Amino acid sequence: MPGSVPGGSDAGSPPAAVPLTIVWFRDDLRVTDHPALSAAREAGAVVGLWIREVRDAQGRGPRPLGGATRWWAHRSLAVLAAELEELGIPLLFAAGPAGAVLPAVAEHLQATAVTWSRRYAPASRALDAHLKDELRAAGLAVHSHPGSLLVEPWEIATGSGGHYQVFTPFWKAAAELPVGVPLPAPASQGPPADLAERVEGARWAGIAVTLDELGLLDQDPRWWEGTIARHWEPGCVAAGSALAGLEEAVTGYSTARDVPGDEHGTSRLSPRLRFGELSPRQLVHAVNAHPELGAPQNEDRRAWVRQLYWREFAWHLTYHCPPLERTPLRPEFESFPWEPDEGALRAWQRGRTGVPLVDAGMRQLWQSGWMHNRVRLVVGSFLAKNLLQPWWEGEQWFWDTLVDADEANNPVSWQWVAGCGADAAPYFRVFNPETQRQRFDPDGAYVRRWVPEAVEPLSGYPEPIVDVKESRRRALDAYAAMKDAAS
Ligand SMILES: Cc1cc2nc3c(=O)[nH]c(=O)nc-3n(C[C@H](O)[C@H](O)[C@H](O)COP(=O)(O)OP(=O)(O)OC[C@H]3O[C@@H](n4cnc5c(N)ncnc54)[C@H](O)[C@@H]3O)c2cc1C
Repeated sequence: MPGSVPGGSDAGSPPAAVPLTIVWFRDDLRVTDHPALSAAREAGAVVGLWIREVRDAQGRGPRPLGGATRWWAHRSLAVLAAELEELGIPLLFAAGPAGAVLPAVAEHLQATAVTWSRRYAPASRALDAHLKDELRAAGLAVHSHPGSLLVEPWEIATGSGGHYQVFTPFWKAAAELPVGVPLPAPASQGPPADLAERVEGARWAGIAVTLDELGLLDQDPRWWEGTIARHWEPGCVAAGSALAGLEEAVTGYSTARDVPGDEHGTSRLSPRLRFGELSPRQLVHAVNAHPELGAPQNEDRRAWVRQLYWREFAWHLTYHCPPLERTPLRPEFESFPWEPDEGALRAWQRGRTGVPLVDAGMRQLWQSGWMHNRVRLVVGSFLAKNLLQPWWEGEQWFWDTLVDADEANNPVSWQWVAGCGADAAPYFRVFNPETQRQRFDPDGAYVRRWVPEAVEPLSGYPEPIVDVKESRRRALDAYAAMKDAAS
């Protein structure tokens, strides 16, 4: 029972020597600019906890991680554990529904407080609110902190008091709010003498496990180490180095951002933001403080920071709307005449559609766990429009294979591409992948890198599985049929 924590009245529980705060890490795997961690350290001794969560019987909790994000989480947590150790903070791991695990860990550690960075998806918020009540009823102090967003979703509202559904006014309002100065890592402090014993107790009781025992790599050991691992070094230490390289990506961003073959055309910081290895305000602060990029009229910085606000917008919608991973924001799309076809979906997933830019993007994703934004738009349009496959099938595939897959950007972007989301690209705007290739990969560097056989004669590269023009017409007919049905 959580009631037996120190300060409780159970006979037989030894009183804790010093106040002890559990920092429950979730999507904030860093030690710098971490308000929850800094506040905990100011209050005294700290233990970190990360739970491999499963949703509870009421469906509360985060969406289960996909394959690529499980791999990233495992590696990033190993780095976080080492960084916390330097600060005198042990990091514990546990698995199960957080509603059961967290109170049990608190009891075993005789913790007096729990703190965390807020999360914003509806099912996670429901769980966190429930846990706050439970833990407080058991006598613990519980505090949630900002840390993952520049703007809390309730901090801005439209003139009529509702949430924003269009990006530009959202951005204008959000960018008005000041961005605070990032916090340094908290000071190092030796843990209380008996803490190791208490932590060991939780391990013996089977509540705490090792990182390996979390099994994050179990389902895909064959795969990710040989592919994604060649492209990324997860963890907040490597994220710090990536931050140092930000200048290169932001300089010239206004034009280079649309060239998928340009390795440095965009920052590639999305998995760092996804896992909170860097906070968005560290990023804003870094570019604003830069001698050239920070100049008030610097267009590259403005264009790049604007993209950070697209992320904010996705979380704003996620916070205010029903779950978006399956339900279209525009309800008329419930009756869209999709034509599910396993073969077409599989060809798309494997990068075997015979359309070079689409295949290059899907293979970049499979090999590296990431895809350039311009190509995400093209492959998304191709799936939902030219192939008439339900957009949520693409969303799910991205969820499983992207290292930056997150509960806001992924469904919101898919709805945008499919035409059924807030401020979305109209359904009738169907990207022509060939025109896109000529425009954004004119020298063929991107296609050549990811699907070399597409440019080799007699290589056995497949013919296109659909005719782009003819399938566009079919998509527009389907759209017209949906509109007729809705009117
Ligand atoms: C179908 C589809 C699915 C997507 N799924 C995801 C996802 O699961 N996770 C994710 O982080 N992004 C997603 N995006 C958005 C975007 O493609 C990536 O954020 C971007 O490619 C990341 O590369 P970068 O870090 O180099 O971005 P940069 O261009 O350097 O931008 C900096 C940061 O701004 C944010 N950002 C940039 N573009 C967007 C955008 N269009 N929407 C929202 N935020 C943006 C990201 O956090 C990014 O790291 C998706 C886009 C599409 C079209």
